[in-house]
Amino acid sequence: MTQLAPYAVTEANSRGRQRAEAPPTARGEFQRDRDRIVHCTAFRRLEYKTQVFVNHEGDLFRTRLTHSIEVAQITRSIARALQLNEDLAEAVALSHDLGHTPFGHAGQEALNACMKDFGGFEHNLQSLRTVDLLEESYAEFNGLNLMHETREGILKHCSPKNAAVLGDIGRRFLEGRQPSLEAQLANLADEIAYNNHDVDDGLRSGLITLEQLEAVPIFAHKRQVVEATYPGIGGRRVIHETIRRMVNMMAIDLIEQTRSNIADAGVGSLDDVRAAPRLVSYSAGLLPELRVLKTFLRDNLYHHYQVLRMTDKARRIIQDLFEAFMNDPRLLPPQYQLMAKADQPRAIADYIAGMTDRYAMREHRRLFAVGEIH
Ligand code: MG
Repeated sequence: MTQLAPYAVTEANSRGRQRAEAPPTARGEFQRDRDRIVHCTAFRRLEYKTQVFVNHEGDLFRTRLTHSIEVAQITRSIARALQLNEDLAEAVALSHDLGHTPFGHAGQEALNACMKDFGGFEHNLQSLRTVDLLEESYAEFNGLNLMHETREGILKHCSPKNAAVLGDIGRRFLEGRQPSLEAQLANLADEIAYNNHDVDDGLRSGLITLEQLEAVPIFAHKRQVVEATYPGIGGRRVIHETIRRMVNMMAIDLIEQTRSNIADAGVGSLDDVRAAPRLVSYSAGLLPELRVLKTFLRDNLYHHYQVLRMTDKARRIIQDLFEAFMNDPRLLPPQYQLMAKADQPRAIADYIAGMTDRYAMREHRRLFAVGEIH
């Protein structure tokens, strides 16, 4: 690893783990976090969870797992360029979506609506809950017992009400303090990843077209460059060459703007980072271009009628499952019945949130399909 900047998170300035553990022998503490995340159950489930397209719609679309790997790649590259803690940044990137429900945002909205009277459901909080509590792998503790800064990075946002009951990890939301640069970075790398791969998946699915994308300057400009450099290029190559230039441009913009933000703020330590305004950012020039891209994706892809049909179905599956388990908790698998004794709605939310897309569909069939008894 390259020399770390004085404002990077290190083992020396870290607030450590909730439960003290013997130090690792051949790796760092943040590498250990990353490794625990890669080996946890919730991480493997990301393979079968929707990003935008339901998992079974096609084998080539992003899933939450491939999305998380792309976020980790972008995060890691930028972290190295900024001399930040790559292992921490990677751990945050790989775990940022662990708490997502099946069926993407439709699933989260549906579960949040079901949980309205029981404290709500929020995927960031659920990601933290997964690594703090729900994983059952270690003899001495629940969850993964991650470093404070990894957990802080996972909890990207949080309402003051929720922050107040989270103790140490929620305090920054009440005090208006920032998380580490590594956490801020993973958050924006998430955006770089999906804004670009959703264009790619949108084109691959045929729901959006290259012609439509002429209205998005950031895409149109890069495509012009590609076609001028390689006359006659077409098919998949023109798309990939265009998108990789977009990713690169966003990453470089972020690196340069963040460097100058750090210099302007006179930041020289991790404490300075926490007290300063958000330092990881795009340039003011890039923001309006990104807004055009995001609006395009919302109007033409996320709100495409074929996507909305899928999300509407997903919403009903989640509602039906939640209702069935609320009406009769004995329908829950035994371990969740046990949890339901303490808090029935939360146990149901944990069960549903942990499902993959296809598991949720199968469970729905098992509970509701007339004529199918097994
Ligand atoms: Mg994400």
